[in-house]
Amino acid sequence: MTFLGMPAFPANAAAAVRDSQLRFNLRKATHTIREKRASVVAELPDWARLREAGKQIKDHTLRNLEGYLLQLEEAVTAAGGHVHWAADAREANRIVTGLVRATGESDVVKVKSMATQEIGLNEALAEAGITAYETDLAELIVQLGDDWPSHILVPAIHRSRAEIREIFLEKMADWGRPAPEELTDDPRALAEAARRHLRERFLSTKVAISGANFMIAETGTLVVLESEGNGRMCLTLPKTLISVVGIEKLLPTWRDLEVFLQLLPRSSTGERMNPYTSTWTGAAEGQEFHLVLLDNGRTRVLADEVGRQALRCIRCSACLNVCPVYERAGGHAYGSVYPGPIGAILTPQLRGMSSPLDASLPYASTLCGACYDVCPVAIDIPEVLVHLRGRAPHPRAERLGMRAAGWVFDRPERLARAERLAGRLRRFAPRRMPGPGPLSAWTETRDLPEIPAESFRDWWTRTDGGTR
Ligand code: SF4
Repeated sequence: MTFLGMPAFPANAAAAVRDSQLRFNLRKATHTIREKRASVVAELPDWARLREAGKQIKDHTLRNLEGYLLQLEEAVTAAGGHVHWAADAREANRIVTGLVRATGESDVVKVKSMATQEIGLNEALAEAGITAYETDLAELIVQLGDDWPSHILVPAIHRSRAEIREIFLEKMADWGRPAPEELTDDPRALAEAARRHLRERFLSTKVAISGANFMIAETGTLVVLESEGNGRMCLTLPKTLISVVGIEKLLPTWRDLEVFLQLLPRSSTGERMNPYTSTWTGAAEGQEFHLVLLDNGRTRVLADEVGRQALRCIRCSACLNVCPVYERAGGHAYGSVYPGPIGAILTPQLRGMSSPLDASLPYASTLCGACYDVCPVAIDIPEVLVHLRGRAPHPRAERLGMRAAGWVFDRPERLARAERLAGRLRRFAPRRMPGPGPLSAWTETRDLPEIPAESFRDWWTRTDGGTR
């Protein structure tokens, strides 16, 4: 996929922070959304209870996932839909490509979907000679600009209006109806150009691909929340609808959906209600419906007692908008379709930590905890980050150092002896670590603390707790 082979997070972030336009765009956008979110969340006196309910419902569903998935399959099938199970990205792409080929079509329209980005579906379809057209405005900007998404909710958050105008003028004609020559960077003009470009596509394309925000096990209903109406066009007009959905998107009942329809819009766009909420159960009249249930590492995440809470995520992106690291580094630095704090815990769990980039992601955080405070399903992201840091590969010297430290800290008398020794040798202690290397990088921006001549323990004993 596009992100493969990227350097580790620190190198990507160092390049990103030098881009002042990017930092300006990100700061403006994230601060606007986070303020809107804070004000609409403050309106609800029962927000904390809603949040707890969201967490409990998700945890209950994940604990009983197998049963609910089978219930969902039965309900979707009974309503005329077809259910496919995909263990990984390759299998999901093979299934979807086969389904599109069977229709004889070579074009598909897409509703914004993180799951299909995660598996690299557009690239797989392109290899099979099938063109996928993104219809969400921000995804359209990313696709026309031959770019990568950098935010879960606003994938083109790194682009300014002037840049979007340039992209539309240069690239729209390659993908269909061109942008008007007199196009300005007024938001209304840009939206109108996209609307006209996309409408032709909606009316002529026979196959649509979507994800889903939620799936309701009791009735087999899928739910998509969106703001532009493009999703509803894709879900209703084409003859064939294929939905690729992660298995963790399940809710047991419609009653549970009520909680999330309050949590999600307020946390994501800072709105009280979502503009377009589409629900469908099985195949509509005259339409064929396929549901591809995607694992792609999720059951492995589920097996991790600490890390599994990441599967509660409803992709609201509130954690991105408050993260000081994301605000400065931007989404591309995370090298994944899941950027920001949730990406830092989800990507290494889904992909493993064998590449330098994935192993660096649990460190892409200051552990300030702002992400946890805003998360509508109370994912303790700092807890998972620390947990993953423990599992990330570490250089041999660091492992040996930690083992030695563990041995010293294990017994109070060992620690006391080590402190006395360090006090005696303090005049030889460097203020900066020798380099180049990770240790010298650590002291490039901070001094090593001075070692006191007397340890706190010895002082306490000598003065009887400061009384002598
Ligand atoms: S981790 Fe929480 S705050 Fe972040 S995207 Fe997921 S649900 Fe939203």
